[in-house]
Amino acid sequence: MKTNYSLELININKSFDNSKVVENLNLSIPPGKVTCLLGPSGCGKSTTLRIAAGLEQQDYGKVKINGNLISEPNVCHLPPEKRNIGFMFQDFALFPHLNVKKNIEFGFTNNRYKQYDHFSSDELLKKVGLDGFQKKYPHTLSGGEQQRIALARAISGMPMLMLMDEPFSGLDKRLRDEIRDETIEMLRDQGVAVLIVTHEPEEAMKMADNIALMKNGKIIQQGAPYNIYNKPLNSSVAAFFSDINILNSIVKDGRTDTPFGPFITPGFKEGSYVEIIIRPQHLKIDFDRSGKGPNATVQDGVPARGKVCISRFIGKESIIELKMEKDGSKLKASIPGVFLPDPETPLWLSMRRDRCFVFLKNI
Ligand code: ADP
Ligand code: MG
Repeated sequence: MKTNYSLELININKSFDNSKVVENLNLSIPPGKVTCLLGPSGCGKSTTLRIAAGLEQQDYGKVKINGNLISEPNVCHLPPEKRNIGFMFQDFALFPHLNVKKNIEFGFTNNRYKQYDHFSSDELLKKVGLDGFQKKYPHTLSGGEQQRIALARAISGMPMLMLMDEPFSGLDKRLRDEIRDETIEMLRDQGVAVLIVTHEPEEAMKMADNIALMKNGKIIQQGAPYNIYNKPLNSSVAAFFSDINILNSIVKDGRTDTPFGPFITPGFKEGSYVEIIIRPQHLKIDFDRSGKGPNATVQDGVPARGKVCISRFIGKESIIELKMEKDGSKLKASIPGVFLPDPETPLWLSMRRDRCFVFLKNI
């Protein structure tokens, strides 16, 4: 089943106690796609979601569904229950005095749009992998099972738009991955438009067709996970998605000096302060050269030598922190597998220049 339901937030502004929480926010949630609102705690994600739901009213701005205005201050405000929206929040709160079947059936009361056949509670339980749980009570279920029931209840209203606020954060990692993947698959399958809030970049990248990165009440960059990761707008966007190394430098003759030799920086004014960003996995340890010992020579643009400060194994990879000989800067390199050189071991590093980002430094 595919639906054609879309939501638009246009120039949304919201303050609490004279402090701006959401500012000039524009966001489109297209039909059948998963959009993630990603950002640090306190940046205004939940407020935005609550405005989309109609639980909170914006000070300025418009909310549209399928191009029709449904909320604008002093003009109109369609209440939440008329928006054909499913909710799933972090504290999913099942009714403790109702069994599983009754909890799910509560969601049917919200099903005002009868254009699709709706599922029975038995079918919904099958869908979430809890067939046979009809008569159980919430307190006898594990966190993961309760979460699945909450999901069944959320989709029982046959929403065409699902709004989810950190819905998996109460679960431990393995269960979270499993339930998240199943949930997203089910929603995609139903063609539901999804807006999901998270503060975890990895989770957003796993789920989203489109990520909207939010900071201090504003969306600072939007795009497909691949694009936002590989074309960050600035160093703080890059840093939100992974550990980064920052090489600070000044442009001279169209280039800057780095521990790895000159780095060409076209488009930057002479004398500007720039930062070259490189992720740890794009710094390579040159084992051949390292084998030649401390007397190997450095040429322009070739590997640079540093000494190991710390090395740590963190599961899939090892992180090695080095102090560079040339300027004393500290850089982090990551390599797959186990590699734990002793402190003070000299190593040669090279930088994947095609994976660097150069930004003008704000001073
Ligand atoms: P996030 O979900 O990104 O963590 P929120 O939208 O919950 O952020 O909150 C953003 C800011 O707005 C926070 O500083 C929070 O304290 C404040 N805030 C949220 N709701 C209210 C409210 N009802 N009254 C006053 N301040 C609020
Ligand atoms: Mg929140």
